[in-house]
Amino acid sequence: MPNPIRRLSDTTINKIAAGEVIERPASAVKEMVENALDAGATEIRIDIAQGGKSLIRVHDNGVGIPADELPLAVERHATSKLDEADIFAIAHLGFRGEALASIGSVSRLKLSSRTKGQEGWMVAVEGGAIQPPRPTAHPYGTTVEVRDLFYATPARLKFLGSDRAEMQAISDTVRRLSLCAPEVAISLHDHTDGDTRTLYQAPLETGDLLDKGHARVGRVLGRAVMERCVRLDASREGARVSGWIGLPDTARGSSTAQFIFVNGRSVRDKALSGALKGAYQDLLPSGRHPVAVLFLDVEPEAVDVNVHPTKAEVRFRAAGEIRGLLVASIRTALAESGHRAPAGALPAPSFGPLGPAATPASHTYQAPAPRGWSGPVPAGQAEALFDGVLPLAGRPVAPGFDPETGEVFAPPVGQPLGRPIAHLYDTYILAQAEAGLVLIDAHAAHERLVYEGLKAHRAQHGVASQMLLLPEVVDLDRATAGRLEEAIPPLSRLGFVVEPFGGEAALVRAVPAALANAPAKALLIDALDALDAQGAGADLERRLDAVASRIACHGSVRSGRPLRLEEMDALLRAMEATPGSDRCNHGRPTSLALKRGDLDTLFGR
Ligand code: ADP
Ligand code: MG
Repeated sequence: MPNPIRRLSDTTINKIAAGEVIERPASAVKEMVENALDAGATEIRIDIAQGGKSLIRVHDNGVGIPADELPLAVERHATSKLDEADIFAIAHLGFRGEALASIGSVSRLKLSSRTKGQEGWMVAVEGGAIQPPRPTAHPYGTTVEVRDLFYATPARLKFLGSDRAEMQAISDTVRRLSLCAPEVAISLHDHTDGDTRTLYQAPLETGDLLDKGHARVGRVLGRAVMERCVRLDASREGARVSGWIGLPDTARGSSTAQFIFVNGRSVRDKALSGALKGAYQDLLPSGRHPVAVLFLDVEPEAVDVNVHPTKAEVRFRAAGEIRGLLVASIRTALAESGHRAPAGALPAPSFGPLGPAATPASHTYQAPAPRGWSGPVPAGQAEALFDGVLPLAGRPVAPGFDPETGEVFAPPVGQPLGRPIAHLYDTYILAQAEAGLVLIDAHAAHERLVYEGLKAHRAQHGVASQMLLLPEVVDLDRATAGRLEEAIPPLSRLGFVVEPFGGEAALVRAVPAALANAPAKALLIDALDALDAQGAGADLERRLDAVASRIACHGSVRSGRPLRLEEMDALLRAMEATPGSDRCNHGRPTSLALKRGDLDTLFGR
């Protein structure tokens, strides 16, 4: 017998909605702060304990809720913000009328409020049951207090992160929200250990609109980054994009410093972040993410914000035009600041006959993608590379040619990458191998070797550390500093010795030995970003690999420095000994070969 069809109780419906809208404490904070902003508050105070699990309290000095409407405010689909005659013109942050009902269904909620000319009243909700309102002492404005979030849904409770991780998410959320409300004072306080710690405090910003915005963005990004940002302001056909974008050198290893708002609403929209990425395409290597605070303002009718329960995604009527506006205005702003993207990408590499004789295109030789080299493994040489930037004091290497006569020697047997002849354009190594000519991208190859070295050492016996002569103090932004403590154990497995230093800095005592010559600050920031980008949930080994890959470039030979023959030779031999070194960390080939037989064909021999 099938079960009979029954209507769900309101409590159950609310719990289901809570699953969509309130994912974690930070989502409750977001809804509550948005309500305070909608109520026209100029001051919002947020108090948290145990990462929001035991307490979230948001107090504001907004318009308040009349006593008779208090029970409605915590009921589902009850809102003061939606004009049902025109449900697509949305001017408030909230409008679904389900946040308070959802939160109330899975927690112990108290809503206290007082409007002008009235006394204070409060209503309590316990696991969805609304208690009758009663008078209470309260200043003008509203306080929503949420205790024991998710106590009514233990399954959800289990999926929450550590208190610290949840606190971090709350802190990110508050910063994000505070960016679009510079005229509102916002503060966040943690009460976990009994005493009060202020985690974020943004006073009411002063000056004209631009000054206010600038001051608030500076508070979130940090002054140093703000100084390397350029202002953006462009409009086209009813759409306007404004904000601040970072010069390429401020780019980060993850997108944590990207804040995008549509009509004052914080969104995490793939299409918009894709446009941002596209705008920086030729300016940043892959894996680097620009810093950006972007405000996109369009007619309310031109955007649908109701495609996602937490309203994080949006849909534009003219998506292509919005993308165009974003990309064009970012490029213009960067170009005006002197950072022009190259006019066009170089053509795909090809070797072809020189000279004016017009040759049919079919004769043009396309370098084949190289396969892995399988030569004998010279023991110890790969390691040598990781001792410093490049190794080998004193080991004589026969050059590939006689410096007196210029005669090129026969290539060595058993060394597929051959004998180095020259370092071309300070970037490519030209080598003569048995099979033909080989070109090696020295930087890409070395980066890969450093990465493989870090990985191999970590698997065997841990990565060797190099103590710094003078420990280095690295200033972090607040959000990154908050994540430091969690990052210390994984980073130590890669050879970092780091400790917190004051509220917003780290003290680096040691770095991976292979990267001892790289700037400690850049190493640490990239390592933290890479850990972050993987998310705490990811498998630790994968996260460590990602960090190794990210920081490997700091130890690598930069193109632009001429390499000595010995250095080139060491690089080639290490490549032969290292599986995977035929690709750089980003998947591009590290070497190209032009086979002897192909040369002969090209010259018609
Ligand atoms: P929504 O924000 O989508 O309308 P909520 O469940 O978040 O739904 O809130 C329900 C209603 O309660 C709001 O429409 C508003 O009238 C009232 N309300 C909630 N929080 C506040 C606040 N801090 N100040 C004034 N009114 C509030
Ligand atoms: Mg709301």
